[in-house]
Amino acid sequence: MTKEIRIIPLTDMPAFVGALMQGRKVLAPTRNDDGLCVFAWLSAPEQADWTCGIPRVPPKQALLPRTEVFFRYHREKGKETVSPPPPPEPQAVLGLHPCDVQAVKVLDAVFSAEPSPDQPYLERRAVTTLIGRGFSEDEPLVFCRELGIDPMDNRDCDAFLVPLAANRMALEILTDKGAALKPAYERFPPAGAEDRAAIAEARKLSQARSTPPLDMAAIQRNLETIFNSDLWNRIHEPCVGCGACAFLCPTCHCFDIQEETRGLDGARVRVWDTCQFDLFTRHASGHNPRTSQKERSRQRIMHKFSYGVDRFHIPFCVGCGRCIAACPAHNDVRQILKEIQDLAKAEKP
Ligand code: SF4
Ligand code: SF4
Repeated sequence: MTKEIRIIPLTDMPAFVGALMQGRKVLAPTRNDDGLCVFAWLSAPEQADWTCGIPRVPPKQALLPRTEVFFRYHREKGKETVSPPPPPEPQAVLGLHPCDVQAVKVLDAVFSAEPSPDQPYLERRAVTTLIGRGFSEDEPLVFCRELGIDPMDNRDCDAFLVPLAANRMALEILTDKGAALKPAYERFPPAGAEDRAAIAEARKLSQARSTPPLDMAAIQRNLETIFNSDLWNRIHEPCVGCGACAFLCPTCHCFDIQEETRGLDGARVRVWDTCQFDLFTRHASGHNPRTSQKERSRQRIMHKFSYGVDRFHIPFCVGCGRCIAACPAHNDVRQILKEIQDLAKAEKP
């Protein structure tokens, strides 16, 4: 439920972001040296870029860092001293597209699952405030509407920015965590009746653009019938196994745990990994149950649209289009989903 709405002119966004940065880290869309939009930790409020659409690098690093020390240790004279890392600092993720908010829901489901909820993830999640952002334009590669995600939907956010006419943003405060941002937003005026009507109208217009959703239940069913289909050959043949599709995906969360030692000191570290790499499943014996890129390409699609849905009742894809934009082999998950439907029809007895 919306607790209150404040109006922030775009020219005052650096003041708002600067106040947000007091006492917390802020991850937001920025432009890197190549001019590409990426989510990155801000070192100055002016770095937040409001012209970005969906940034190429997703925000998952806020909750699942690329590398994360579980603990450090020191060994001496038969004795070991183990030190945990410092507790996570408060942080805000700013400017999340609603599809990236849905991706956080996927990560939450995976990392809170019994019987072994992931404590480092949950501790970081507990100190994270999600500030979403609505988009009134649909980007060409984004197909989140086909997965039932509306780009103006503020669900599951603590606060949400809605673009308004005259270069302004409405900041909707939605939860207690959002209300805790008051020192950052209280200097801005509350929304009047006209602005509230404009926000409602923006949501109505967005809903009017909704497209028929994909039949995810049918796709999941069909996937069970095409495990040995030639489709996997056609997907994997151009694939170079670079892993970009997984590392840039806001829901992909495979990791490796490594031991880093130097002399008597060491650390146990979690690092991102991907099922697209040969080494990911290679056993110590040298045997690899996924013998070629074909098995690895199939695993990625199966995990997103079949195994993940079986276990968590939620697809592991939010239609952000990042994998389509980044794939050097031009593999397009929208096309793959369509082929899965068509192939299943063709291959059924
Ligand atoms: S599979 Fe591709 S489109 Fe789907 S969430 Fe991942 S990066 Fe986005
Ligand atoms: S980005 Fe494309 S080429 Fe790279 S691993 Fe993914 S599907 Fe293969």
